[in-house]
Amino acid sequence: MGEDQTSFPGFPSPLKRGDGNDSDAGERVSEARLKVIDRAQLLFRTVDVERLIPDDHPARAIWEFVGRLDLSGYTEQVRSVAGVAGRPAFDPQLLVSLWVYSYSQAVSSAREIERRCEYHPAYQWLTGMQSIGAHTLSDFRSTHGELLSELFVQTLGLLSADGLITLERVMLDGTKVRANASGSGFRSKPRVEEFLKDAREAVEALEAQTEEESSRQVQAAQQRAKREREQHLESALKEYDKLEAAKSRIKRVSTTDPDARFMKQPDGGSAPSYNVQVSTDAAHGLIVDIDATQAGSDYQQLTPATQRIEQSMQRAPEQMVVDGGYISSSNIAEMAKRDIDFVGPKSENKSAEANRRKSYKHHGVSEEYEASKFVFDTETNTYVCPQGKRLRYDAKIPSHGSMRYRYKASKLDCQTCPAKNQCCPRTKHGRSIDRRELLPDVAAFRKKMQTDEAKAIYKTRSQVAEFPNLWIKTKFGLRQFSVRGLAKVRTESQWVALTYDIQQWYRLLWRPKLESKLVPA
Ligand code: SF4
Repeated sequence: MGEDQTSFPGFPSPLKRGDGNDSDAGERVSEARLKVIDRAQLLFRTVDVERLIPDDHPARAIWEFVGRLDLSGYTEQVRSVAGVAGRPAFDPQLLVSLWVYSYSQAVSSAREIERRCEYHPAYQWLTGMQSIGAHTLSDFRSTHGELLSELFVQTLGLLSADGLITLERVMLDGTKVRANASGSGFRSKPRVEEFLKDAREAVEALEAQTEEESSRQVQAAQQRAKREREQHLESALKEYDKLEAAKSRIKRVSTTDPDARFMKQPDGGSAPSYNVQVSTDAAHGLIVDIDATQAGSDYQQLTPATQRIEQSMQRAPEQMVVDGGYISSSNIAEMAKRDIDFVGPKSENKSAEANRRKSYKHHGVSEEYEASKFVFDTETNTYVCPQGKRLRYDAKIPSHGSMRYRYKASKLDCQTCPAKNQCCPRTKHGRSIDRRELLPDVAAFRKKMQTDEAKAIYKTRSQVAEFPNLWIKTKFGLRQFSVRGLAKVRTESQWVALTYDIQQWYRLLWRPKLESKLVPA
């Protein structure tokens, strides 16, 4: 007690004249004067909108880049026209720039953009200090999928003209991005039908409500919510029809995002997701194609990705580099047919040997009588078994990436053989073995992948191909989609790819060019 109650740690107590300490050298003798904070005042300030952000701010680069794109597709859809009453529409250059800048800042919510337009200097600079409603932003993002694809193609054209895309080497990689749906919302078809019946009854009940029972506004909001639920459930039932037509084994779909699928995650678990396929040009690490699919595996995505690149760039990549998830004999053959140099891990299936061993065990074949113990005689095109009997050519069977030639021993030889119980205990016929010949494209691919040059190219794959995926997730925050349904998810993926490429253009060209202007010659 007796301490100065107004003191704070680290701050000296105010000393008053005549408090007995006047004589102490260097001590303050009068009360400190502090600035008064007046929150009751109204201020008018002059804002130089152009100077809200520095010259090298990314928002300026985005505005400039988007300004180079042909946005007539968007303006043609603007309903507000000169000479007719009504408010003018927002310039598509502004709306595209706002979304691109927002994704670069890991902002994917229209409401958050609306909020930032009120106080954030970069947003204020872009909008010229105007307010934009979340509905306008949200509609613009989701309802112009095809125009956005065109915009992305234009972007690729500009980046190619700037020498940033060469298509000499393109690396494809897939990444799982979580859907905007919870795992617990997946239901069986009968359950969805029950929910839909309830939802329809709820909508009817709301429509029958009188105004006295509920205000018009509340009623409208409730009806909207119930109808949305009804639409989601109807989409879920349609998804079941598609799955049944495709003879899929999937028995449960999400009632909030019926297009989402359970997919394996990098942490080993599984979650409702989409498989996002990203093709990256190795020259400067720019994205040349992006798509979101419902497929859990990658190998069926190689051909569509190369087709899309060819369509948007008017030429195919010279080389495609992929990981093991894309290696299959049909992909190898397809790339050879398209004259695209294909680089990836050797197609040797690691589990093939394990499967062979399992099969021997299952058929009761002992180690001494495995196929490798049979000797092939090229002259007679027969095999000789460990007991000296001949297995003659029987059939040709096309297989994955190879052709299998079947050879069979005679029934009599095997049924009377003393080693039958070790060689083929469970067959009533003669023992058979297969000789496998790789298809020419697969053999050439494997041979190539043994060369140091191909191995060195493949070594660079993870660094180039996985970088955009990592960037999109960590810098743009796309660990989960903010929209629902495959079409909207694809559109959001394209927004992200567009943002990524414009950001790289800013880093590789725009900023260095600006800095070189600032340095005196
Ligand atoms: S069972 Fe038939 S194939 Fe096997 S070792 Fe005997 S003769 Fe040869």
